[in-house]
Amino acid sequence: MNILLFTIDTLRRDKALGMRKWKRFSHRKGFARMDQHYGVAHCSDPNYASMLTGFSPDRWGIYTQMGADYGARLPTLQVGLKNLGYKTWATMPVLVPGFYRWGFDEAIFGMRNEATTRGMPGAKRVVDGLGEPWFGFVRLMDAHYPYHGAEDIPRTSSVSPDGVGIKRAYNRAVDYVDKVLVDLIGWALAKYPDTAIFVTADHGELLGEHDLWDHLWSLYQELVHVPMWAYIPGMKKGIECNKATQHQDIVATICDLVDIPIQGTGNSWLPMLMGDGEYQSDYAHHFVGWGMLHRDMWRYRAAIVGTMKYIVSWHKDGHARFELYDLGDGEHSNILGQQPHMANQCADLLATVAPHFPRQNVTVMPAYTEAEAELVAGRLEALGYAG
Ligand SMILES: [Zn+2]
Repeated sequence: MNILLFTIDTLRRDKALGMRKWKRFSHRKGFARMDQHYGVAHCSDPNYASMLTGFSPDRWGIYTQMGADYGARLPTLQVGLKNLGYKTWATMPVLVPGFYRWGFDEAIFGMRNEATTRGMPGAKRVVDGLGEPWFGFVRLMDAHYPYHGAEDIPRTSSVSPDGVGIKRAYNRAVDYVDKVLVDLIGWALAKYPDTAIFVTADHGELLGEHDLWDHLWSLYQELVHVPMWAYIPGMKKGIECNKATQHQDIVATICDLVDIPIQGTGNSWLPMLMGDGEYQSDYAHHFVGWGMLHRDMWRYRAAIVGTMKYIVSWHKDGHARFELYDLGDGEHSNILGQQPHMANQCADLLATVAPHFPRQNVTVMPAYTEAEAELVAGRLEALGYAG
């Protein structure tokens, strides 16, 4: 069985659910939809590290855009599947640094025109030339700013324009993504019907919510609650899963599918998808965010327990901010003061994964050491982000 992991960078869940072509297509094919699916962070690298290794970013210490130099040391899905005899390929039409470029038999990176103006002919040619079984990884960048050509995206938390032009540009980019997605997956299933398919986004995007734009601030729902669909040949059709799922589960499900021991901390969806078992969701969601210093001086941690979401923001200079929301009411009014017991419960949960992160009423050390600040600044500059 072939496996395709199709990711759309920066695709918000609400916009994904509104993609008309994909909605019709995925419904007709019986794709399962995970309605409580979450990324692990607000930016790309930690999310892709989780999708391709099955672990949380804490396992690798990947909290921000750290470039490609650690790629070779991660036990990635592409390498694991290659060892099982899979032919592996990847395509990313816009070139951005990333560890996941490492370890594929065939990689088509940075060929935007060739790869996206007429669907993805480059990817199709590569697949046809490889032989089966294959594992493909697609990272489509068109919903990422500059939104397929839109200009002038505000990038500071203090700017709050009405953003009509930006929202329109984002919507147009999503319409475009809709076409490319249906074209490639339609082609794949027609030519290679024995293919399992996973469609998701690494993280979402803020379009003015909380007076914030793009995706490198905090860990609000618009950023971490992402779309997720799965298709396995012969599966039970039309599943809508409301249990907690997160990116680590993708590797768990694929390991289960190819019948090898599960790598990482995720849970397999396979029994649920095939209709012969329940999905065991045995964890609470938790998230990390690491501001890119020159733009954002905060680090973030968040957890969801039931319908409650707890966010801790920790400034470079050492002070901290705490938020608690009932997700049933959105993330508008901070109810931390009204729910101290729940806040404590969430803080306890976060302490199990981030023992050094601040808690309310506890004196904390400065958030960044000089060495960490220099490391991040140096990496970002090398990648062309700073300035
Ligand atoms: Zn991304």
